[in-house]
Amino acid sequence: MSIKKNLLNLKSKLPDNISLVAVSKTKPISDLEQAYLTGQRIFGENKVQEMVQKHEIMPKDIKWHMIGHLQRNKVKYIAPFVNLIHGVDSLKLLKEINKQALKCDRTIDCLFQLKIASENTKFGMSKNELQTILNCDEFKKLENIKVRGLMGMASFTGDFDRIELEFKYLKSIFDDLKNQFQEFKIISMGMSGDYELAIKCGSNMIRIGSHIFGSR
Ligand SMILES: *Cc1c(COP(=O)(O)O)cnc(C)c1O
Repeated sequence: MSIKKNLLNLKSKLPDNISLVAVSKTKPISDLEQAYLTGQRIFGENKVQEMVQKHEIMPKDIKWHMIGHLQRNKVKYIAPFVNLIHGVDSLKLLKEINKQALKCDRTIDCLFQLKIASENTKFGMSKNELQTILNCDEFKKLENIKVRGLMGMASFTGDFDRIELEFKYLKSIFDDLKNQFQEFKIISMGMSGDYELAIKCGSNMIRIGSHIFGSR
């Protein structure tokens, strides 16, 4: 199957309110161009250097999403252009994003990554850590970031009952916060193997790599 066919096929199955992030990490520019020509405008990368290089080459109307773990000392490289940072998991990182955004005279949209999987290999915060950040004065003073919602990755397992519990857990926290913070709009959950379930559980942003571009 071609990238174009994969993408059109996937899009035809998605409800209108779902944003599709085409996860193009490790894939060559020619693959991204095919997706672009099919109309795709949101691309997700997980490595700073790769995203910077692709951003330089690709058309400028693309929205670049950083979906991977972001090191503080690398924020400066993506701050001038990144559209959404999915993996924010500490106040320290958020403060650095705010600082770099200010330098670029921008406001950068971010998602807090929550740890919903039971495996200990995944990044992300606990619900308590998140509450602590949201309630602290330092956070409230950050004017060049906007927290737009939450992101989570389910366990890497074939046990869909477990994945469903994890997605529902993230959705319940999202619903709570949505009522307190009017800018909370995005819940980023669901990948190639579990996006249908994620949508059923209330996701409105899915991050799809291999279903579009083939296996890595
Ligand atoms: C790689 C990656 C994806 C996409 O994974 P696929 O299974 O190829 O769809 C989604 N989210 C994150 C955070 C990733 O690192």
